[in-house]
Amino acid sequence: MEAALGATLIDAEAIQRRVRELGAAISRDYRGRELLLVGVLKGAAVFLVDLARAIELPVTLDFLAVSSYGASTKTSGIVRILKDLDASIEGRDVLVVEDIVDSGLTLRYILDYLHARGPASVRVCTLLDKQATRRAEVVIDYTGFVIPNCFVVGYGLDYAELYRNLPFVAELRLASNEASEGAGAL
Ligand code: 5GP
Repeated sequence: MEAALGATLIDAEAIQRRVRELGAAISRDYRGRELLLVGVLKGAAVFLVDLARAIELPVTLDFLAVSSYGASTKTSGIVRILKDLDASIEGRDVLVVEDIVDSGLTLRYILDYLHARGPASVRVCTLLDKQATRRAEVVIDYTGFVIPNCFVVGYGLDYAELYRNLPFVAELRLASNEASEGAGAL
């Protein structure tokens, strides 16, 4: 399907400024503790490496890769773990790092999955929040930006695996309105 970059929603400078603010808030809130950042591949990878460098605490990193069943990014809520965590999270302070929360169904699944593994605490940091389309109840502790209900790419977010390397977030224009088809892995 034909796709073209539309308007820039959040420019690179605004993203970097917000990442520094989030890093400062997280550093304050977890002062004196060690934090495990759990990134959700692939979308959150770009945000996670910038965020990790903005946090002034001892930090360790781990990654989960998940995909929802079916060909569409309209999440069904049935999530498959493609890559599990490398190490135990028992007794750890865990911060889940997400690129975007849309319906919240993927995040709801991930939170239940992590809580069952005995962490000391689990909080969530997302770069983008599409609040208007929420279907699952999830608490987000740190939010970069609330955005309208449009399909966005850049700064980790893809369309058919492309655009992840853009330093900004932009709207994607598609020839038809089937924006979700072909968007691939989360
Ligand atoms: P959920 O609906 O479960 O909250 O979101 C599931 C996943 O859909 C997100 O992690 C993300 O990978 C994908 N997604 C949702 N909205 C967008 C979007 O605007 N752009 C891109 N590239 N992916 C999105």
